[in-house]
Amino acid sequence: MGSRRYVLSVDQGTTSSRATVLDAKLRVCGVGQKEFTQFFPKPGWVEHDLNEIWASTEWCIAKALRSAGIKGSDLAAIGITNQRETTGLWHRGTGKPLHKAIVWQDRRTSALCGELKALGHEAKVKETTGLVLDPYFSGTKVKWLLDSVRGARAKADAGELAFGTIDTWLVYKMTGHASHVTDVSNASRTMLMGLQSLEWDEAMMSMLDVPRSVLPRIAASAEVYGMTRGMKSLPDGIPVSGMAGDQQAALFGQACFTPGESKCTYGTGAFLLMNVGEAPVASKAGLLTTVGWKLDGKTTYALEGSCFIAGAAVQWLRDGLGLIKKASDIEALAKTVKTSGEVVFVPALAGLGAPHWRPDARGLFAGIDRSTTRGHLARAVLEGIALQIQDLAEAMKLDSGRDIPAFKVDGGAVKNDLLMQYQADILGTNVVRPKNVETTSLGAAFLGGLGVGFWKSADDVRRVWKADKVFKPKMSEGERAQHLGKWREAVKRA
Ligand code: ADP
Repeated sequence: MGSRRYVLSVDQGTTSSRATVLDAKLRVCGVGQKEFTQFFPKPGWVEHDLNEIWASTEWCIAKALRSAGIKGSDLAAIGITNQRETTGLWHRGTGKPLHKAIVWQDRRTSALCGELKALGHEAKVKETTGLVLDPYFSGTKVKWLLDSVRGARAKADAGELAFGTIDTWLVYKMTGHASHVTDVSNASRTMLMGLQSLEWDEAMMSMLDVPRSVLPRIAASAEVYGMTRGMKSLPDGIPVSGMAGDQQAALFGQACFTPGESKCTYGTGAFLLMNVGEAPVASKAGLLTTVGWKLDGKTTYALEGSCFIAGAAVQWLRDGLGLIKKASDIEALAKTVKTSGEVVFVPALAGLGAPHWRPDARGLFAGIDRSTTRGHLARAVLEGIALQIQDLAEAMKLDSGRDIPAFKVDGGAVKNDLLMQYQADILGTNVVRPKNVETTSLGAAFLGGLGVGFWKSADDVRRVWKADKVFKPKMSEGERAQHLGKWREAVKRA
């Protein structure tokens, strides 16, 4: 290892890029973070400039090294994690993007998805890829680029173009255009990879008109994809050796290595992922089946469910209602009452996702009377966030046939002890908050380190992973049933 005592984690997110330098004990030694431009060319369209993403990544790496007080040559490995599904297309030789990247939130391919559904492709997509036929995923976005950018199809057929999600773009740039590669977790979000075969699927490629010539190699989540070359922020010759999509990296960073172990990220929305082991589990409840990671030839699969609104409900209380000044004030306000009384809040501010799938549902406060105070409303909002996650967890338990032994949490809203305690109460499961809640960055660092033997095995990761606080369920069964009963009634009315 010599002087190479550090690992660099690059977390390329939807609104900002971030780089973190960690040592072998996973201490954070330096960080750099930079926001970049969001483009909204039409209603429902969201784009990013690939070159700006790259420039912001270089900037963050330089800043992280500076703040850690180390040189690039002190790095043993680089791990990458990224906003998933966002789709780019560039010239293989020059690296020049053909168009801005189409972001995961972009809905421009809704009509195309509608057409594919009308042709009866939905079941096939689900069976082959584990996904639902939705503009969210990369497949229809690549087709849009190939069909809409002048000359793109001809160039693709001539082998001149490369498609990639952001992981692929970053490795391509880091290695001086030498490596065109993605990892299984990112590939599982393209709608082009077979979930069982872990290879590009001929039927999906032909359904989506995507030629093999543009597709990257699919690799494991920890292996040497290439060496840095020609970067501004780093010297040549540092191995890029770990990659996973952001939610999968968080599952890994939470050390959820045993089937059933789950993590939930509470940000603007919430993402729940459960490790389901070495075989994919098909969902009956509208959850997604996805690849967690592939390590040492072994693939770990996951079930995934998300809520569109989690912390965003707290923002609404702050900005929409003006009930609080800052997000963290909600806890003190909620504590002004002992219980939410009869008040129930359904956070369907943007429809209801899995397992309800009711896009037209809208938010609801139920059970208000003349004794209701601001405190009751605040408490009900926090409970509503936890209750929708309980619905997801219930669906996951049914789909997987497994209990959840540990429910690990991260994201901006997990500072809220009242929310975490209620989550434990309503799940009837221990909720575990780690010391380091930057689990996405941690996951990428682990993968990068494992790829070069900086850490030897996932057990090393388990050893350094530390819980900050365990919230144990305290609510009686009767009270829990009462809360769930009121919630289910309210959801029907949302
Ligand atoms: P994202 O990555 O989606 O931008 P973060 O992980 O940074 O989100 O979390 C920010 C979200 O957490 C915001 O929606 C905010 O309202 C919520 N939040 C922050 N602090 C608290 C708190 N103490 N209690 C409840 N929600 C909070």
